[in-house]
Amino acid sequence: MLDVRWPDRVVRRKAREYKRRLRKAQWVVIYPVRCSWCDSERVTAYEINATVANPISERFKYDIYACEDCQRPTAISYMGEIHVHRADQDRKYPALWYLDPAVEHNEKGS
Ligand SMILES: [Zn+2]
Repeated sequence: MLDVRWPDRVVRRKAREYKRRLRKAQWVVIYPVRCSWCDSERVTAYEINATVANPISERFKYDIYACEDCQRPTAISYMGEIHVHRADQDRKYPALWYLDPAVEHNEKGS
């Protein structure tokens, strides 16, 4: 468990070790969020402090969570409170993410 210090309170959260390539592992807080696509609770941290092409604010930090049910990514930001966004991964640059992509209406097969 890790203590998260908001300006007005300290919240104890579940944490896990996040292994970074070429760098020392870092302990990060795992937020209790739901999948932004299918509302599943089975989401796991996928990328911490991700690079987002269209952040709501430059001050926000974003983590990417992956859904075990629909396999789609969810981005969360936290700045006093947690915001959840649908996320999309850039096809060319896997380290780049977009928030709230337009929903594709063309169904690809079935
Ligand atoms: Zn899902």
